Amino acid sequence: MHAFDVLAENPGTDTHGHLRFTGADGEEWLEPFDLPELAANVLRELGHATLMHEDGWLELTESGLHLLPQFIEFHVRDDELIGTATTIQCNQPQWLPQGLFEYQYAIAETFDEAVTSGFRKWARTDLLVLLDAASAEPQSCMTMSMELPAQDGLPARKRRLLFGPVEHVGQPQRDADAAEDATEEDFCPCCLFTKSIDAFEPLLRTDQVYGLRLFASHDNAGGECQADCRVNGEEWPQGLDALRAYAARWPAAAGLEYRKQYVIVQNAPQ
Ligand SMILES: [Zn+2]
Repeated sequence: MHAFDVLAENPGTDTHGHLRFTGADGEEWLEPFDLPELAANVLRELGHATLMHEDGWLELTESGLHLLPQFIEFHVRDDELIGTATTIQCNQPQWLPQGLFEYQYAIAETFDEAVTSGFRKWARTDLLVLLDAASAEPQSCMTMSMELPAQDGLPARKRRLLFGPVEHVGQPQRDADAAEDATEEDFCPCCLFTKSIDAFEPLLRTDQVYGLRLFASHDNAGGECQADCRVNGEEWPQGLDALRAYAARWPAAAGLEYRKQYVIVQNAPQ
């Protein structure tokens, strides 16, 4: 077992504990929570052999990924549903000893259901990219690679990009005829990154591992475009302008359209 440090930027706190609820009459009560248990259930349900360590870390035995699920906050909404915010940190002894983390936000009737749905969504999207990053032959992600010559004190290296599944909401409805329309925008899993590639170029040039959270939205009613860009869990404002400019070029759709994706940049495994 490798003892990994929790990243200083990771806002997650506990893995286990008690939630304090307050009833309408002011009465308070506590309910226990256990995030490693909930995360392990999701991972096993999706077919990943998972070990639970006593300190809260989970280990995927096949890939060697070590995962630490942590609590940030929860709240009871006006409609009585529970909103949760959690993080999952991921380390791997060989290629990701320094670790990275991502956020999960979810809403459901109970705390456990909300956390579980956030973890499940993470496991069906971001985890696929992390698993492929651990492999010489990616199974789920579209990939790209580039050879870089020795430069700036770094040896010659092959950089690899892994493009996770895109969550694409609000895209225009297209019938069979429209799909053959030559004016239609091309969109594939690389595009959120490659259409903004000048902004990300500095990340490609190094020899480090980066997990990129990319989000762009276009509100067709008002024309407003928004973006969110994180690198290894931390805000990375250098990507915002390019993502917003890309969203502004999307063809008109009804209402709000957004695209969200997790991308990993790394040195290709030897
Ligand atoms: Zn593309």
